[in-house]
Amino acid sequence: MRVIAIDGPAGAGKSTVARQVSTATGLRYLDTGAMYRCVALEVQNSATDPNDADAVGKIAREVSVVIERDAAKLNGVDVSSEIRSSEINAIVSVIAAHTPVRDAMREQQRRWIQAQQGGVVEGRDIGTVVFPDAILKVFLTASPEVRAERRVGQTGGDIKAVAASIAERDHLDSTRLDSPLRPSEGSVIVDSSNRTIEEVVAEIVSHFERVDHG
Ligand code: C5P
Repeated sequence: MRVIAIDGPAGAGKSTVARQVSTATGLRYLDTGAMYRCVALEVQNSATDPNDADAVGKIAREVSVVIERDAAKLNGVDVSSEIRSSEINAIVSVIAAHTPVRDAMREQQRRWIQAQQGGVVEGRDIGTVVFPDAILKVFLTASPEVRAERRVGQTGGDIKAVAASIAERDHLDSTRLDSPLRPSEGSVIVDSSNRTIEEVVAEIVSHFERVDHG
């Protein structure tokens, strides 16, 4: 299965890089963070307590989440911009730490990979847990300062507040018991701090061509 797994902390450039790697390789792109964000939005809309693992797990199993290249659909409605709000940023890592939620998302992600026969899959636990057999695993990172600056450049906001929100999310994502964020064994670690998107994409594509052609 031709899977490129791209994991890493918030603001490292995963989405931009993964999209361009998808275009360069012809493999379909899946943003798994958007899936967790859709569940978080349903939790918010239904006024469910984000800390209630059973209630949130039920939502994750029952809700319809469809992630397309340019749209995230929750129960058939395009929620691409709603899922990027600061309210969702504040609860997504809380709901993503619950095992029943991860079980439901992981199953959907594996089904997607099977159906596509591969893909460029971006998230936090793709190389470690969802698809450890990926032919290429990348851990994409950057310094906290660069990551906060990039986020402010994309979505605006106060640099200190954005940096604090990213740090909080990284802390929750890397210290949770189920599928914590960390580089998987055999992953290529790419630091994008002082490099352009083009350089990072070219490096990943060249690693892919090497392993894809054996
Ligand atoms: O990538 P993005 O910032 O959109 O991810 C939002 C959140 O979803 C992450 O901070 C993390 O809590 C969760 N997530 C996850 N596992 C993934 C992808 C995202 O736990 N594979």
